Order: sequence, then C-alpha cells, then structure tokens
Amino acid sequence: MHAIVIGAGIIGLSTAWNLRRRGVRVSVVDPDPATGASHAAAGMLAPAAEVVWGQSPLYPLMRASADLYPDFAADLAAESGRDLGYSSAETFVCAGDRADLASLRELTELQRSAGFDVSLIAGSAARNLEPSLAPGVSGCVTIPGDHSIDPRRVTAALIDVLGVDIVRARVSRLLSGQGRTVGVELTDGTTISADQVIVAAGGACNEIAGVPTLPLREVWGEVIRLRAPESLAPLLTHTIRGLVNARPVYIVARPDGELVLGATIREDGNSGINAGGVHRLLRDAERIIPAILDCEITDITTRARPGSPDDVPIIGRTDPGCLVATGFFRHGILLAPLGSRLTADLACGSESSWAPAGTLAAVGPERFDAQRPPGCTQHAQRTEPIQQPAGSHP
Ligand SMILES: Cc1cc2nc3c(=O)[nH]c(=O)nc-3n(C[C@H](O)[C@H](O)[C@H](O)COP(=O)(O)OP(=O)(O)OC[C@H]3O[C@@H](n4cnc5c(N)ncnc54)[C@H](O)[C@@H]3O)c2cc1C
Repeated sequence: MHAIVIGAGIIGLSTAWNLRRRGVRVSVVDPDPATGASHAAAGMLAPAAEVVWGQSPLYPLMRASADLYPDFAADLAAESGRDLGYSSAETFVCAGDRADLASLRELTELQRSAGFDVSLIAGSAARNLEPSLAPGVSGCVTIPGDHSIDPRRVTAALIDVLGVDIVRARVSRLLSGQGRTVGVELTDGTTISADQVIVAAGGACNEIAGVPTLPLREVWGEVIRLRAPESLAPLLTHTIRGLVNARPVYIVARPDGELVLGATIREDGNSGINAGGVHRLLRDAERIIPAILDCEITDITTRARPGSPDDVPIIGRTDPGCLVATGFFRHGILLAPLGSRLTADLACGSESSWAPAGTLAAVGPERFDAQRPPGCTQHAQRTEPIQQPAGSHP
C-alpha cells in the first residue's frame, strides 16, 4: 500500500510515522513542514486541567492519549536519537484571587467527577513547593498526571525519522476515479497516485479541492517564549496554569530552561501578532509569577488552532481512498498518539479495540451530517474524475 499524508503538522507526521512502522509506504506532502499550529503549541499534555464544562466526549480521548504518551515519546526519542523535552513535572493551577479560587473549586469537582487525580492546596503550601508564585495566589490545584513536551522538538524528530518521505510541495486537489480518491495533484501540476490519501492539513483542509467541506473554524492564539536570567534560573519547576479575573493563562517550564507563556484565544481572522493579547498575557502572568517580567522574550508566535463545532477532532473516512484527520483544536499535541493510531488503523482497515468505547463515533465526520443545509452533501466539493497523466510519479 502507498499512502499520501497531506500536511506535516504533528498529526500528519505522527500518522505517517505510525503507518511506516506498520510497513506502509508513505509520502508526506507539505510546502512548509511543522510551521502551522504545531509550531506555536506550548505542549501541555493536560487531560485533567483541560476538562471544561460541556465537553464530556473529549475527556476519555484525552485520558487515553495521555496514557499512550510515555511509549509514543520513548519510541520516537529512541528512533530519532533526539531529546523531545518531555517533562513529567506536575501541573499547578493557581487562583489569582478569591473569586478565581471559587471558580477553581467548582472546576476541581468536575475534574474529580471525570476521574482525574486533583488536589486543592492553600496558596502558602503552593509557594513552599514553587517559591516564584506571587503572594496574592490564594489557592492552587495540583495535578500530578498533567505533563508537557516540546512540540517543536517532536515535529523535528518526526521529520528526521521520515527523512526523504517528505515532499515539499502544496496539494491543490484530490484526484478521484471510479468513486474514490486515487491520489493528489500539486500546485505545479505534478500528480502522485496513492491507495490511501490522508488529509491532515489542519485548518487548511477546506482549501484543497475535492475534500468534502468540513465545519472547521480558525481560533487564533498568541504564545510568548521567554528565558529567565541566570540569577533566577530555574524560575519554575512545575507547569503553572492560572486563573486571573476568570482569564486562563499558563507558563510551561521546559527542561532546557525555556518558558512558554500562553495563550490568547480570538476568532477575528487576523494572522498578525495582536499587541493587546501579548499585553494581557504578560499582565496576567505577572499576577501569578511576578518575575516573568524579568525574563527575556525570545519569540512571539501566533497561529490558528483548527477547531471543530464541538471541539472534538474530526477523524474518519470520506471515501474508500480518503481519510481526514483534523479539528484537533487546543489538544492536538496531547491527542497526537491517539489520533495518529486511530487514523492509521482506519487507513489499514485494522480494528481500534484499544481505543475507549465510542471513540470512532465521537470523532467521525458524519456526526455533522444532520447539521448540513438541505441539498449539501458530505461530498459536495468532490471534483470530476481525473485521468492519471503519463509521467505521474507514485
Ligand atoms: C497558541 C497555541 C497553543 C497551543 N498549545 C497546545 C498545548 O499546549 N497542547 C496541545 O495539546 N495542543 C496545543 N495547541 C493545539 C495544537 O497546536 C494543534 O491542535 C495541533 O498543532 C494541530 O496539528 P495539525 O497537524 O492538525 O495542524 P498544523 O500543525 O497546523 O499542520 C497542518 C500542516 O498542513 C500543511 N498544509 C496546509 N495546507 C496544505 C496543502 N494544501 N498541501 C500540503 N500541506 C498543507 C501546513 O503547512 C501545516 O504544516 C496549541 C495551539 C496554539 C495555536
């Protein structure tokens, strides 16, 4: 079998790696590998801290993927010979004031009812464990199971292990014949045929002609990378999340000393860095970790998260030759082991009995069919059958 994966973000790359480990010949096509949302991501692996009201279908997926992470990371580190910046330091979720503490208490109940191990401790107890916390922090939820990884290192490792199987080009459309996808056409007119095409182009899936229209939305976010001066290093030994006047903020402390402060959430369609957003992040982070203002900013990045209407990924078959794997929204780094394994199972026709019950139904693109306007079919944008021109390469 030859598979083409469109998109070299963490989802496309990890799916390609998974397929290759099963003996599938795989080509990944992307003009700028690993420069999309995966380049911005902080890399929190936070199935408990990401529990929010109204998203119960996500909880078992996040937990299952977090369980797969240690093996996923160990195998990738061993095969690539790279350090992935994996940290099992526990996460602290801190309340900026008493009102935020009341919200945290309620959220903690929800996290407990979803089966996660979380404990509420006093601000003074948290400061004993993490001395950089501000005196105003009024309480803190400790989450031992929420960890982190460096997504830039993960995608670099995946690119290394996939090597020459990455084609630096943009896909303009799917090729179809006899009712199924049979390959892709690149913007320079080159065609590549395949038995299976996996569309993992993040928020840009709908720009590829022939891909059934997916209900994707772009949720932009700024993230700031910083480094503490030597006199303060290490500034933090935990991942710190905060609630400040009901606004969430986080600082991920990497093993190499990098601090990642994020992230704004906006749906204004602007791809530039928003000054107000950066200002708010620094101001809110200062309320939790005052010394953040003594750090050096090394990078500010803004990217769009590929969101779905229910914030659950969209993974499934759209025709006998095509699958989609997108819509990972705020959780694509955490969900990569689960999403890539599930997508590879579907491509190979394998069972996914390892996944939590109901996973395929929860992520399947057909869950949106009832919401389509009359006359709009799932395959509305499918193009006419294309003859394979002579000279097309595999
Ligand atoms: C600020 C921010 C912070 C985040 N923090 C976290 C976090 O802490 N934890 C977490 O789990 N998740 C986090 N996320 C979410 C996570 O980054 C995304 O869910 C994940 O990166 C999505 O991966 P992807 O591979 O689907 O998309 P992308 O990484 O966007 O990759 C898509 C790829 O497709 C390529 N492409 C597009 N069109 C075409 C085409 N026509 N032909 C070929 N290639 C194409 C692009 O070049 C790109 O490389 C964060 C996101 C943001 C923006």
